[in-house]
This record gives sequence, C-alpha cells and structure tokens, in this order.
Amino acid sequence: MTHHTASAPDSTLAYGLFLRFLDSRLEKHFSIYYTDYYHRFAQASLVLGLLLVLGDCAVDFMVFPDVTANLSRLTLSVPLLMLSIGYSFTDIARRNWQAVMAGSLVCISLSLFWVLARIDGQGGAGGLSSWVGVLNFTFLELYIFVILGVQFRIAFGAGLIILAAFMYAIRTGISSEFHAFAYWSYQVLTVFILAAGVGWWREWLIRRDFLARTELERARDAAEAASLAKSTFLANMSHEIRTPLNGILGMAHLLQRGATTPTQQHQLDRIIGSGRHLLGVINDILDLSRIEADKLELSQSPFTLPELFRTLDALIGSAVRDKGLRLAMDIDPALTGLQFIGDGQRVGQVLLNLTGNALKFTAEGGISIRAHKLEDDETGLVRVRFEVSDTGIGIPPDALERIFEAFEQADHSTTRQYGGTGLGLAISRRLVSLMGGSIGADSQPGSGSTFWCVVGFAATPSRATQTALLAAPEPRALPQGVQVLVVEDEPVNLEITRELLEEAGLRVDWAENGRIAVEKAAGKRYALILMDMQMPDVDGLEATRRIRQLPEYAGVPILAMTANAFSEDRRRCLGAGMDDYLIKPFEPDALLDAMERWLGQPPEQDVGVVVQ
Ligand code: ADP
Repeated sequence: MTHHTASAPDSTLAYGLFLRFLDSRLEKHFSIYYTDYYHRFAQASLVLGLLLVLGDCAVDFMVFPDVTANLSRLTLSVPLLMLSIGYSFTDIARRNWQAVMAGSLVCISLSLFWVLARIDGQGGAGGLSSWVGVLNFTFLELYIFVILGVQFRIAFGAGLIILAAFMYAIRTGISSEFHAFAYWSYQVLTVFILAAGVGWWREWLIRRDFLARTELERARDAAEAASLAKSTFLANMSHEIRTPLNGILGMAHLLQRGATTPTQQHQLDRIIGSGRHLLGVINDILDLSRIEADKLELSQSPFTLPELFRTLDALIGSAVRDKGLRLAMDIDPALTGLQFIGDGQRVGQVLLNLTGNALKFTAEGGISIRAHKLEDDETGLVRVRFEVSDTGIGIPPDALERIFEAFEQADHSTTRQYGGTGLGLAISRRLVSLMGGSIGADSQPGSGSTFWCVVGFAATPSRATQTALLAAPEPRALPQGVQVLVVEDEPVNLEITRELLEEAGLRVDWAENGRIAVEKAAGKRYALILMDMQMPDVDGLEATRRIRQLPEYAGVPILAMTANAFSEDRRRCLGAGMDDYLIKPFEPDALLDAMERWLGQPPEQDVGVVVQ
C-alpha cells in the first residue's frame, strides 16, 4: 500500500505566470506529450503563415506597385518560412520544434518591421506608422501565442522580443515625441497582454485535459491491477481450500469403504455431503467471478442428450428418490438421435442447478426434466427447450425476475430454511446467455415451478444408436498389478490416492517432489504417472517436461492431479506434455475412471480419448 501511495504523482497544477505541475515526473510527461502531439499543428500553422505572407505581398503589389520594399519582404520571409517548414520534417525537429519555430517567427517579425519602416521611408502608405503596422503586430502576437501552438513559456519569450522590437521601431522610426510614443506603447502593450492572456488560457485548458486523461489512465491501471489481484487471490484461495477438502473427502470415502456401524456410515455420509456442498459453493464463486471477468470459455465438443440426462440422473437421481419424490426424464424422440456441438458439460451444469433447486424446494410430488425440439429458426441451429418442473413451494410473481440476479433469493427466510447462496440461477443465466440462449421461470406459489431454458446447437445425426447410449456403463476393467507412480508432496492426499489405487489392484510407487519423480522414472518404466502441479523444488510442469525427454516415456500417460481449477492451469498442464487432468478434490470414481481410460486398453487401441 505504501508503495502505491509513493508512486502516485502529486497532480497539483501550480498557477503563476508559467503553468507547471508540481510533480516533476508529471511535468516531464506533459512536455513529452505536448511536443509529440502538437508537432503536426505547428507544421500546419507554418504552411498557413506562408500562404498569408504570399497573400499579403500580392495585395501590396496590386495596390503599391512602386514600393520596392515589398519585394524585400518576400525575399526575406518566404525563404525563412520555407526553411522552417523543411526543418520541421526532420527528426531533430520532432523534439525541438518549439524553440526553433518561435525563433523563426521572431526573425520574420523583425524583417517585417524593418520592411514596414522602409515603406514609411519610401513614402508608401500602409507602413509601420499606419494601422497596418499595429495590425501586423497584432497578427504576429496572436500567431506566436495561439496559432503556432508553442507552449506559453516559449511564446512569452518570443512575444516579448517582438513587442520590444516593435516599440523600438516606433521610437526610432516614427515618434520621438514622448506623449505620442506613450500613447502608441499603451495600445501595443494592450494587444500583447490580450494575446498572452489567450495563450495562457489555451495552455491551462490543454493541461487540464491532460491531467484528466492521465488520471483516468491511472484509475484504469489501478482497476486492472486490482482485478488481477482479485483473480490471483481467487486462484490461491481456491487452491488452498481445495487441497484440505480433498483430504477430508478422500479420507471420508476411505473410511466408508471399511467396516463401520450404520451410525458411522450415516455420519460419514454427512461429512461427504457437506464437503461436496462446500466444493459446490467454491465452484459457484469461481464460476461467477470468471464469467464476470470474461474469462470463462465454453468448449465446442460433441455431446448427446441421452448421455447428458444419464449423467444428470447419476448425479442427482438417487437424492431425488431418497427424498421420496418421483423423477421423470423425457427427451423428444426428434432429439435423441442427434449429436450436438457445444459445451455439454455447462448445459449439464445448468440443468443440475435447476434440478438441485427443484429438489431443495419440493417436499412431495415429483420433478420432471424434459427436452423438446422447437421450430428451427433462420440460424440453422437446432433449438432445444429444456424444462425442469417441480411440485414444490413455488415462487411469488414479484420474485420471478429477481431470483436470476446474483445473491438474490425469493424471500430472505429461504437461506435459513433451505440454505444456499443465491448464485445458482445467476450463473445459469450467464452460462445460457454465453451460449446465445435464454432462460426463465413460470410459477404459482404453492403449486410448483417450471424453469426453462432454450439454447440452439449445431447438430448432426449421431452415429451411436439410442439404445447403446442409454445402456448402463460397463463394469470397470483395470489391469491388475500394474506399477504406477504418484508424485505428491501432501501426505494426506498421497495416502488417499495410494489406498484407492491399491484397492483397485494397482501397485503404487511414490515420489514427494518433481526431482525425485524424474529420478525414479529414469530408473524404471511406470505404466502411468499421476502428477501434482505445485510442489517444492521441481514442480509438476517441469518434472513432466523432463520425464517426457526420457526415450521410454514418450507414450506413457502422465495425468495432472491438482487443486488449481482454472482453464489456464489446464492449458499449462497439457502444454507441458500431460495427457489428462484431475481436479482436486476428486471423487474416487473420477480417479478410477481416469485410470481406466488411460490403463484399461492396450496402447495400440488407445485412440478414443479426446482431451481438450
Ligand atoms: P440458492 O438456491 O443457492 O439460494 P439460486 O440462484 O439457485 O440460489 O436460487 C435463487 C432463489 O430462487 C432461491 O433461493 C429460491 O428462493 C428461488 N428458487 C429457485 N428455484 C426454485 C424452485 N424450484 N422452487 C422455488 N423457489 C426456487
């Protein structure tokens, strides 16, 4: 924090004859910005000046063809102006144009006054002593303070020289009498003060504008830094909570497998249930923050609805039936034979949220989950309407819109009675709108609710038959006695993983960090390696890279096992040469499924697994 305060420049603008920012770094930035930005304006104003001088001479020639001094003006100011314009295109001028251009304007002014004095001497009208003289002086002061676009402090110096030269010319050329000179001087000084005032004001406006923009940029940088800090915090927090949660859930699972009394079974069920709930809350918070930071990416992979519904049933079906509710699932026959392209997992997450709510708010009756096909629209996508209906407590009409906002619940006693964070529907709505769909609810208090969402997917006829998709998964077939290496620095997690794998008939070797893992792999060929990501000494990514360089490890599956749940982490793992990814905490089934996927088939047939 101290660092931040120290680095924020003092943005006070000091008022005085010359404006200046109190902070010298800010002043320097301003001067760099100014020199850069107004360079082109200065060039344009020089070209304008050249045109004006040429026009002036043309008029003079037409009106006073005999006054030769006019010619001197042309021979002096035109080359001077051309030189300045030429110079302004050089690289040096980019940094120093202000002084040079102001200087060239002073030269032009001096030559002009000299010419005007000579016109007076040659008896021509419109010399220094006429209104033409004062008007020319006025032009020049305006030019230096406003049009040329140099900073006030430089314009002031140049303007002062022009003023002094003009007064000197008047004193020596026209009026040696003091009263007349004082009168002239007063007029001329007034013009100078007015022009300088406008010049000062111009710079004040530019500085104010610059300050506003700098402060905006600073605020934006600070906001970006804060958002980055928030993401980092979330990632760390997620990791720190997931790791012990993996310990709690894993140990509970192991205990449950051993012989225990029904009461202990029940208590373990509660531990596992609460752990999963906590995990759900962490996932929700992560999801919401990722969606809000535009960091959530939807995958585009094939999925089918029978598969999706079967997963849903596996996740929540028994909980519904345990509560004594009926569960009906129904897929439109026009949809069962289609393979969709989209993020099936996220669609499943939405349906799981809706079904979870239906379960939570329904005491008797049943829940039905349906998918039916809507009329195709002009996008060429197959539009699916999902519906989750229940016979629960219902929702009052005024709450129907509100419940889709984050942290909103139909009525605030809900939290006390049913629990929940109010994030499920907010996440569902955002996910559905990321998929280009819509979501809503119809409800009558007391007689149940229907939540629906409509999403369009690209679809092709599915190759697998419907009966095959609805068939129960095959029993696990893990090769027995195969040697695997678990790389994990956390003793609790190691113990869980080892027990699960040994129970499934595998032989487990262990390395407590990446360096030892590389050494062990060099001495022996394991059939598979499970690799933690964050470890002291050599981490999982580096260890994987080194193991992949061993010739006999080119085709050996290496699976990440990590509490880092962000998609960047996934990409980094796969980029380092890992084949798959298990997020901690994992259910025993998820670990064994992965083992089966990577060990179950002989290597030459190992082609069916798509890892994205
Ligand atoms: P949570 O369930 O964690 O509170 P949600 O965003 O999933 O958060 O739901 C927000 C609120 O919407 C719930 O608290 C509840 O008041 C209401 N709600 C959602 N689904 C149902 C339902 N099926 N029946 C009755 N009320 C519901």
